[in-house]
Amino acid sequence: MSKVTIVGAGLSGLVAAIELQKKGVEVEVLEKSDRPGGQVKTDEFEGFKLDHGFQVYLSGYPTASKFIKNPMRTFNRGAFVFKRNEWVNARHLMTLSDYAVLLKAILNCPLKENAKETIEALGFSRLLTEWVIKPFFRGVLIDPNLSGPADLIPFTLKMFAKGKAALPENGMGSIALSLASQVKNIRYQTEVSDILPNTIIATDPWTAAKLLKEPSPSNGRVMTTYYYSMKRVPLNEPYLMLNGEEGLINHLAPLSLIEPSYAPKGMHLMSVNILMEPVTEGLIRQNLLRLFGQQVESWHYLKSFTINNAHPVTYPIQYSKGIVAGSYTYMPSIEYAVTSGIEAAKKIMEK
Ligand SMILES: Cc1cc2nc3c(=O)[nH]c(=O)nc-3n(C[C@H](O)[C@H](O)[C@H](O)COP(=O)(O)OP(=O)(O)OC[C@H]3O[C@@H](n4cnc5c(N)ncnc54)[C@H](O)[C@@H]3O)c2cc1C
Repeated sequence: MSKVTIVGAGLSGLVAAIELQKKGVEVEVLEKSDRPGGQVKTDEFEGFKLDHGFQVYLSGYPTASKFIKNPMRTFNRGAFVFKRNEWVNARHLMTLSDYAVLLKAILNCPLKENAKETIEALGFSRLLTEWVIKPFFRGVLIDPNLSGPADLIPFTLKMFAKGKAALPENGMGSIALSLASQVKNIRYQTEVSDILPNTIIATDPWTAAKLLKEPSPSNGRVMTTYYYSMKRVPLNEPYLMLNGEEGLINHLAPLSLIEPSYAPKGMHLMSVNILMEPVTEGLIRQNLLRLFGQQVESWHYLKSFTINNAHPVTYPIQYSKGIVAGSYTYMPSIEYAVTSGIEAAKKIMEK
């Protein structure tokens, strides 16, 4: 087959390129930014590794794990949750019946009208639902009202049952760098505005719509991540931290406790996440004071990242023409970025 062009060096485009190379096809990847990864990028800042938004890899991803081999360290299973002025281990909120509901939900989680209804129909105790399950899925879905699709809920429950949340050495962006190192021909800072035959479109769904002259999906979800450094981490355990109070901050993670390469020696890095556009750092600090008390005064603010169009509002998105790759063709996840890359490579080979 003659040369294939792939537009976009996100995970889906990189995997499509690797698959085609394996079949002996000549591939050129064209990427508008100056590096690979798309939504999975990490900046180095004052010796800290700052991911563009809070993300984790789930060790149970069946397809992605065939391509992603970076060394990783895992979070502890479960979460800490803030409610009624204290942090508690979510496990201590679970009744016997909650364990039974969790097992049932892992095996079969029927989808309802939206995420909120899907969660409420599972039958967890009220405390667990409101303090843990809802804040957790607000973060996973980047959906503060839980009004959007629930498709990621059964998938996430299964993946957490199969494995653990993990962070790679040197940040999530190292996943993309490892994949990109296997691709022979990538041209950066090359924005594509017209497509030729034999092209895989592996961009975000909005650019794909433009290139294919299809109607554009509505604007996607927004989140902002604030990074703080500190000498000592509150709780000092490698858990995801959920705000059960429905405050401004939805979830936090002491990244360097999970994977030490996120911070220079002797320092720690905290990821603080809100499910909206940026607010002032002063307001974030005020909310952190409520969660952790006076110790927050010694925390040093590093930087924030606002991720626009982090997830599409509805998915899957399908286009009637063209060969496209992108997690949005299934649902927003590294697993489905990889799956869609494999599928697109297969389709272009069959053409
Ligand atoms: C804040 C956030 C948190 C997330 N959390 C998780 C998580 O915890 N676990 C998980 O599994 N998944 C998570 N995801 C989802 C996951 O990161 C994405 O689904 C996946 O990375 C998407 O990959 P992609 O290749 O489909 O698209 P993208 O990463 O969007 O890649 C598209 C690429 O195309 C390029 N491009 C666009 N237009 C052009 C053009 N005209 N010409 C050339 N190049 C172009 C872009 O620059 C980009 O590099 C999260 C995503 C976000 C944003």
